[in-house]
Amino acid sequence: MKSPVLIAFAAALAVAGGLLAPPAGAASSTSDSGPVIPPPKVPVMTGGGGAVSSVDEVATQVGIDVLRRGGNAADAAVAAAAALGVTEPFSSGIGGGGFLVYYDAKHRSVHAVDGRETAPRTFTSTTFTDGSGAALDFNTVVNSGLSVGVPGTPALWDTVARRWGTESFADLMKPAQDVARRGFVVDATFHQQVVDNATRFARFPATAALYLKGGQPPATGSVFTNPDMAKAYGELRAHGVKSLYRGRLGAALVAAAQHPVTSDGSTVYPGQITTGDLKDYQAQQPTPTTTRYRGLDVRGMPVPSSGGITVGESLNLLEAYDRQTRQSISDVDEAQYLHRFSEATATAFADRNRWIGNVPGVPAKQLTSQGFADERACALFSPTAAAARPVPFGSPDGSYSCSTGATHQDAARDDHGTTHLTVADRWGNVASYTLTIEQTGGSAITVPGWGFLLNNELTDFDFVPLTAGVPDPNLPAPGKRPRSSMSPTIVTVHGRPVLALGSPGGATIITTVSQVLTEYLDRGLSLENAIAAPRLSSRNGVEQAEPAIYSGPEGAALSALGHVMSSTPEIGAATGIVIRADGTFQAAAEPVRRGGGSAQVVRPGG
Ligand code: GLU
Repeated sequence: MKSPVLIAFAAALAVAGGLLAPPAGAASSTSDSGPVIPPPKVPVMTGGGGAVSSVDEVATQVGIDVLRRGGNAADAAVAAAAALGVTEPFSSGIGGGGFLVYYDAKHRSVHAVDGRETAPRTFTSTTFTDGSGAALDFNTVVNSGLSVGVPGTPALWDTVARRWGTESFADLMKPAQDVARRGFVVDATFHQQVVDNATRFARFPATAALYLKGGQPPATGSVFTNPDMAKAYGELRAHGVKSLYRGRLGAALVAAAQHPVTSDGSTVYPGQITTGDLKDYQAQQPTPTTTRYRGLDVRGMPVPSSGGITVGESLNLLEAYDRQTRQSISDVDEAQYLHRFSEATATAFADRNRWIGNVPGVPAKQLTSQGFADERACALFSPTAAAARPVPFGSPDGSYSCSTGATHQDAARDDHGTTHLTVADRWGNVASYTLTIEQTGGSAITVPGWGFLLNNELTDFDFVPLTAGVPDPNLPAPGKRPRSSMSPTIVTVHGRPVLALGSPGGATIITTVSQVLTEYLDRGLSLENAIAAPRLSSRNGVEQAEPAIYSGPEGAALSALGHVMSSTPEIGAATGIVIRADGTFQAAAEPVRRGGGSAQVVRPGG
């Protein structure tokens, strides 16, 4: 094996466009040994033949390689997601879940696939409470088997590959297996994620053995291999996803969750997942949400994600404010734009927390109706002052006038992890896919012998009702999927896709996706600049603002309007693709956040 220094040198050469970096448009490093070294990250690329944008250059290259060899967007999304499981193991992988929105060019139709993790059959509304009815300590639950939901990611891959893919599942898993076996160069983000989680990773021996060899996080520039994960991908290639839902991968997962082994012999809450729960699991294919916005159709993820509905309500509110003030957000100054954006998402979050969960009867149509948004805007919005937080929730009952809501729901917790992948192919198919293991590093429990982390997605449930006396649709229940904020989005015009995007960031996903959409659609920014623009996340409590807003003139103007903000270094990590009418693409990713993303097209130029 090469020394870390040599590898760092190789990586530097690649960054400099040296021999190890195939020119964009050429195949990636083809030799079968040594680390996989893709072309360096670039945050924007334009051209034809298909496009992939993700946070990681290895995963993007895997997707581009699939497109180049004739695979479609479904194939590339599955293969690139599997690669993300290797190179972004703290945000995604076999042990997690996610949501995908897909445009099927042949049928000119948009679809959703729900691969959300699911609670075991034994869960009840009081699973996360103690004998006195108080909520269990959040972090104690995170770092335990109790937070582990039945993973949906392998089932989603299988569903997508079968329904729209052209390549075999085994072929689509091969690049990820190769990356895990050959290794990849550790970047500063990977290193830092281990540093940030070192204490909890050290607590579980299989995780410590993988990510804290000799007690140290992998050095930036060193090569990281994961032979156990290569074995897991090999198992999936040989036996398909039934190895996880009915076979030995599943048995190992259940044992790891039910009987977590700790380094110091301390006990953690055992998981409740059984092999029966795994057998019951199915990826769902619900109808995507649709919101009409300025003549476009914004298609998003329905329940159990709150993403599609909440992004939709936010956009409808912005249109309502335009009408109310007779001034479009395209024409107002930056501070007024951010004010309106903040009021819209705060209002939409009030409604989200009260009305959306994985329960029957969520009033999705009403929540995304213009009538409801008009009522909420009429009651709450002023261009010259922020509404007092928390904003009360509304009544999406189909009968609208101008009433204020009566009461409010306390803010839901927010968290950060996850990763978003966007793919488009030359035939016009588009995949927008957000995948997660919930917190960065999930439950911190690695399945011994198989090299992948288990999610802690069940902590996305509310442990106790958010507000006493107000129904909470997001309490745990048997077989229930916790409410998500993931918002993979595809925008269509007359049924043709023009834009796809998404982001990680827990509840801030909804505000990030809404902000990138409006910066691009209303504020005249290119997608790359819309992604790079400073972010504000207002979710019906104190607002988070990135420093460029917080400390700049907009921050002062927002404060003068009554906004209460805290400074947050970074919100979200978006990726997206513009699909142009001439069949070319602009793929875009973050220039800076999360260490920058990787956008590529098959044939650069134009
Ligand atoms: N578990 C979160 C959700 O589904 C995503 C976590 C994250 O983005 O960090 O909304």
